[in-house]
Amino acid sequence: MPNASLVIANWKMNGNKALAKEMVTSLRDNHEQFQAVNVVVCPPFTLISDLTRECYYDDIAVGAQTVSEHESGAYTGEVSTSQLKEAGVSYVLVGHSERRQLFAESDEQINQKVKATLSANLKAVLCVGENKSQRDAGETWDVVSQQVKNALQGIAPESTGKIIVAYEPVWAIGTGETATPEQAQEVHEKLRALVVELFGEIGNKLPLLYGGSVKPGNAKELFSQKDIDGGLIGGASLKTDDFLSICQAAQ
Ligand code: PGA
Repeated sequence: MPNASLVIANWKMNGNKALAKEMVTSLRDNHEQFQAVNVVVCPPFTLISDLTRECYYDDIAVGAQTVSEHESGAYTGEVSTSQLKEAGVSYVLVGHSERRQLFAESDEQINQKVKATLSANLKAVLCVGENKSQRDAGETWDVVSQQVKNALQGIAPESTGKIIVAYEPVWAIGTGETATPEQAQEVHEKLRALVVELFGEIGNKLPLLYGGSVKPGNAKELFSQKDIDGGLIGGASLKTDDFLSICQAAQ
C-alpha cells in the first residue's frame, strides 16, 4: 500500500500560462482522488503568480525551484525568500543536481540556502543524489550522506518540521532509468537513520521523497516502500494526466 504524503512537480525551465491553468484546473477538479496527499507545483518564477492565483486549496501549494541565500541587494537575476513568500510560495527546492552541476552550487552555498529558506518559514526540499560513476564505484552512501550532513549543518531540530529530503540519483533524472524500488528503499532506509541521528526522534517524521524518472507506471511501487514518503517529479509533471495519475498513486 502506498503511504506517500507529498508529491512535488518540478517543471524546470518548461511550461507556460496555458499549462499552469490546465494543471491547476485538473488538480482541483480531481482533488478528492488524492485527498490525503499534499501536492506542490514548482514552476519557473514567471509562472508562480499564475499558480498561486488559481490554487485555492491548502493541499495544493506552490514552490520555487531555487532561491538566493541573500536577503536583498545587488544580486542581478536572483530572487529572495521574502520575495517568494510575498508571491505565495511555501516550498523551495534547494540543491537540485542541475543547480549543483550546471550552476556550480557548492555544499556551503546549499547550506546557506537551506538556512535562508527555513528562517523565512518556508519549507526546504533538499535534493541529494549520486551520479553514475559514484554509484558504480560503490560510493552512493558516502556521497548522499555527506551531501545531507553538509546541507543541514547548523540546523536546529526545531526546524525539522520544515525540511524535506529528496533522494534523486543523478543517473535516473530525465533518463527514463529509474532506481528500482529496492535500490531507492535501500538509500531511504539509511537516510531515515541519518536524519534521526541528526535531529533525534523527530527525524522519523521528516518526509523523504524519491525522484528520478517517476512515471505513472512505477509510482505506486516506489511509493509503497517503507521509507519513501512521496516523489519529486520532473518530466512526468508536465503532462496533466501523468501527474494526476502519480498523485493518485500516492494515495
Ligand atoms: P525526472 O526529473 O522525473 O524528469 O527524472 C526529476 C527531477 O529532476 O526532479
